Amino acid sequence: ADSFDDGCDYLFKAVLIGDSAVGKSNLLSRFARDEFRLDSKPTIGVEFAYRNIKVGDKLIKAQIWDTAGQERFRAITSSYYRGALGALLVFDITRRATFGSLKKWIMELREFGDSDMVIVLVGNKSDLGNNREVGEEEGRSLAEKEGLCFMETSALENLNVEEAFMQMITKIHEITS
Ligand code: GDP
Ligand code: MG
Repeated sequence: ADSFDDGCDYLFKAVLIGDSAVGKSNLLSRFARDEFRLDSKPTIGVEFAYRNIKVGDKLIKAQIWDTAGQERFRAITSSYYRGALGALLVFDITRRATFGSLKKWIMELREFGDSDMVIVLVGNKSDLGNNREVGEEEGRSLAEKEGLCFMETSALENLNVEEAFMQMITKIHEITS
C-alpha cells in the first residue's frame, strides 16, 4: 500500500495563511511532528504535512498546506486554496500589523476559498504575553463578527496547537459527513 492507502476514511486538505513570521510553519511542524524552530527560515515550510486523526470511528488524513514564504510577496495563488476545506488564519498577538492584515486575508479566503470552508482564527505567540499588542477579546470579537472560530496558541510552548487544528478538523468532519 502507498502512503495514501493506509486505511483512512477521508482525506482533507486545509491551508495555513496569514502574514509572514506569525508562526504558521512552526504551528504546522508542532502539529505534524511536534517540532519547533527558533530561527525563522521561510524555507522551513514544506509544501504540506500529513497527520492521521481519529474522529469518532473514522480515520481522517489531514493534509495541511504551508506557504514557502509566498505570503511575503502576497503571491499566494488560487491553486493554494483549491479544494481546501479548512484554513487556519494566523496572526501574531505581539504585532498589531498582522492583526490589521486579517481583513485582507479574509477577503482573499472568501474570493478563492470554498464558501463553506471552516476557518479558525489563530492568535499565535501567546507565550509572549508581556509584548502583547492585540487583546484576546479583540481576536474573539473579530472572529465572532466574521463567523470564524477563534483560539490563541503558542507553537513555542505547545499551547492549544493541537486544539486549534482539531477544532478545524472536527468541524470539517461534521460538515462533510
Ligand atoms: P511563518 O513565516 O508564519 O511560517 O512563521 P515561522 O513559523 O517561520 O515563525 C516565525 C518566527 O516566530 C520564528 O522565529 C519562530 O521561532 C517564531 N515563533 C513561531 N511561533 C512562535 C510562538 O508561539 N512563540 C514565540 N515566542 N515565537 C514563535
Ligand atoms: Mg513559513
